[in-house]
Amino acid sequence: MIQVNPVPAFKDNYIWLIGHTDSRQVAIVDPGDARPMLDALQGQSLTPCAILLTHHHRDHVGGVTELLRHFDIPVYGPAHEPVPALTHPLREGDRVALPDIGLTLSVLDVPGHTRGAIAYYGHGCLFCGDTLFTAGCGYLFEGTPPQMYHSLSKLAALAPETQVYCGHEYTLDNLSFARVVEPRNADISARITEATRLRARNLPTVPALLALELRTNPFLRCHTPVVIAAAESHARRPLSTPAEVFGVVRRWKDDLDSV
Ligand code: ZN
Ligand code: FE
Repeated sequence: MIQVNPVPAFKDNYIWLIGHTDSRQVAIVDPGDARPMLDALQGQSLTPCAILLTHHHRDHVGGVTELLRHFDIPVYGPAHEPVPALTHPLREGDRVALPDIGLTLSVLDVPGHTRGAIAYYGHGCLFCGDTLFTAGCGYLFEGTPPQMYHSLSKLAALAPETQVYCGHEYTLDNLSFARVVEPRNADISARITEATRLRARNLPTVPALLALELRTNPFLRCHTPVVIAAAESHARRPLSTPAEVFGVVRRWKDDLDSV
């Protein structure tokens, strides 16, 4: 059976370790920092068999070079981004097969946060870096709203029982924005209660079920009457497509974040 565990890094990053119950080997997703990774591997007597990268930001790739000094392992990552030591450039439709841990993941192109970002999907798990966050989505550093909207729509169409493993612990912050957009959404209120309880015990709120995202993440709800109405009233104009609604909601949060 596939098992996934977080290694916290920096202030709020999660590096994911994908392993198998019958193996001491693991694949490492987005090692932004080598130190906590090396400690976790040693502490749990694990050996890495591959590195998987979602995008080129330093907090996701910063530990790769140092890890490669200790382990001679392949580096999978986006074909169209400058990531260090890439041995297996990936694009949509490609597959990552790691027989040692019985893992096969398919690759999705998810441009928007960065131009060439990718996500990995398989075994009921989605590793999406900074594209889809629990209750939110990444900043549009290199992409346009329609691009990101299209990327998020691809992820939203995956099986609802998919567990979403994103790159940061941002759930509570994202939920307070979700509540601004949809003050009457009871699923958002319930999720805030649950996430607050977990964070008070210093437990991760990630992963989360995609089904829960579909009910509470405003960026996945740009086609719903409630979010359309909220975005139109915020923008003070009619919006004709979900991508336009997404653009308004994304900018709305950007403005609140920059205060
Ligand atoms: Zn990040
Ligand atoms: Fe990022």
